[in-house]
Amino acid sequence: MNNLRLWSAKSTDDFGLSYFNNGDYIAAVQDMELSETISKVLYPNDASMNGKELRLKQQYFLCSASLQDIIRRFKKLHEGEWKVFPEKVAIQLNDTHPAISIAEMMRILLDEENLEWDEAWEIVTHTFAYTNHTLMPEALEKWPVSLFEKLLPRHLQIIYEINARFLRQVSLKWPGDNARLARMSLIEEGGCKMVRMAYLSIVGSFAVNGVAALHSDLLKTTLFKDFYELWPEKFNNKTNGVTPRRWVRKANPAMSELITSKIGEGWVKNLDELKKLEKFAKDAKFQKEFMAVKKQNKERLAKYLKATQGVDVDVNTFFDVQVKRIHEYKRQLLNILHAIHLYIQLKDGKEIMPRTIMIGGKAAPGYWMAKQIIRLANAVAAIIDADPVCKGKLKMVFLENYRVSFAEKIIPAADLSEQISTAGTEASGTGNMKFALNGALTIGTLDGANVEMKEEVGDDNIFIFGLTVEEVTDLLAKGYRPRDFYEHDDDLRRVIDLIASGFFSPDRPDLFKHIAEKLLSNDTYLLCADFRSYIDMQKKVAEEYLDKKTWAEKAILNVARMGKFSSDRTIKQYAEEIWNAKGCSIKL
Ligand SMILES: *Cc1c(COP(=O)(O)O)cnc(C)c1O
Repeated sequence: MNNLRLWSAKSTDDFGLSYFNNGDYIAAVQDMELSETISKVLYPNDASMNGKELRLKQQYFLCSASLQDIIRRFKKLHEGEWKVFPEKVAIQLNDTHPAISIAEMMRILLDEENLEWDEAWEIVTHTFAYTNHTLMPEALEKWPVSLFEKLLPRHLQIIYEINARFLRQVSLKWPGDNARLARMSLIEEGGCKMVRMAYLSIVGSFAVNGVAALHSDLLKTTLFKDFYELWPEKFNNKTNGVTPRRWVRKANPAMSELITSKIGEGWVKNLDELKKLEKFAKDAKFQKEFMAVKKQNKERLAKYLKATQGVDVDVNTFFDVQVKRIHEYKRQLLNILHAIHLYIQLKDGKEIMPRTIMIGGKAAPGYWMAKQIIRLANAVAAIIDADPVCKGKLKMVFLENYRVSFAEKIIPAADLSEQISTAGTEASGTGNMKFALNGALTIGTLDGANVEMKEEVGDDNIFIFGLTVEEVTDLLAKGYRPRDFYEHDDDLRRVIDLIASGFFSPDRPDLFKHIAEKLLSNDTYLLCADFRSYIDMQKKVAEEYLDKKTWAEKAILNVARMGKFSSDRTIKQYAEEIWNAKGCSIKL
């Protein structure tokens, strides 16, 4: 059991004193406000780094407070026994945001506890472990050396010393390999010198992990290749999981009751017990009950959407859902291209399976392209809504203000879960797990934890499409030309042309031109390359949904085979394989 501590910055009491001393009331208040801003806001960026001074202050504030607390508690029991610190304490760096802790811990041991460097470093490097959460290069934290000089000069000195000793070790193993030294240095040279926080995390930790098997492998072969060659034993995997208490029992009480009526309630604490549902997958009565629960959850969501957004959705249509932070790599735009394709089919007089496409998620405030994608989703939804040809057949909704409490209503209502990131870009994903556990089938790429979900649920119970990581790498290496795909695929050409034509923004015909142009010239996430395979797989999804019994069987098998993705399993692996923390029973 751990304590969760929430720190907040408070100004010191000398406000009154400085006011009386200087008579400068305004300056005194401003000082007080400034110190309290440190813990005022959570930076909302996801998968990008924004390098604000206040953010570094905040990181240092939280790390320093937590380390002081950890050390205070350690000393109560083990004063003067620094050597046993790593046996008693494990510090897991959740991404690089708390990486400054490594330098702060060294500072405390050297400057306040008067340990020698080697003793201090031995303790630090047996205490810290680091979890990486993304492969996106733009997300890797790097702070300007100049900012460190201003805010944390002592920490910078310590980082320089860590770096000097580390680079000596590298050059002993690879004498004369100066390119390698420059690549691995904690300091990135160039116009603006930067401290590389991910490298500091690896050097200061005894274990480094990714959050899905594919992601952990990619860390070893791409992002941290040099470090893997130096310290292969540090690298390991801990596949993410989700908690069945929130994401099944609380979010989906109706399905929880149905499951418990068949197999008892053991699954809540031991998710592997869901396996016992397999034998009911072909049971016609159970299939009916299972799909009735899904229908009930669709009705609950429909009612909520009417009350909050004023939109009507038809619960008899197929609910095709993509909810997650808006990011180009997650390819909400590919989903929108499919919606436009279905719309064109209807305009051509073709029949389609009735479908409601829901897209939801927030964009980081400064991420312009993400906001344009939200704008396009809303614009396409409006055109579809206004066209009588779509009535009862196609509807698109942008789900506003996506957040955990909303996710708890959306996910149990989904028939299809969209997990369509470009292969090699999504570290794990956890939304994918929540949906499958709630009886949605997945359409997805071989990316992140989708790969392991496919292994668990079986190839017939998941809709995998698109290029693999290797195929993505090969295509980029030989020179990717999105225009070739556009010229050879009439469906793709019609969709992109319709966006470029201004059809979705009649008042401002040029509004979305940049999106069409970018797809054809700078298609970073390979939407054009994966379009055909995505559209074809969506067609297969529609055909399979028409076979109600087979669909129900597959949905049940998804739930039954998702036991691996409990966060209980994940935490147990961290405890046993990284923290060396033994379980103990407690008397209640
Ligand atoms: C689970 C969850 C996420 C993560 O979703 P991904 O599809 O894995 O990106 C994001 N936001 C909310 C509110 C969630 O509940």
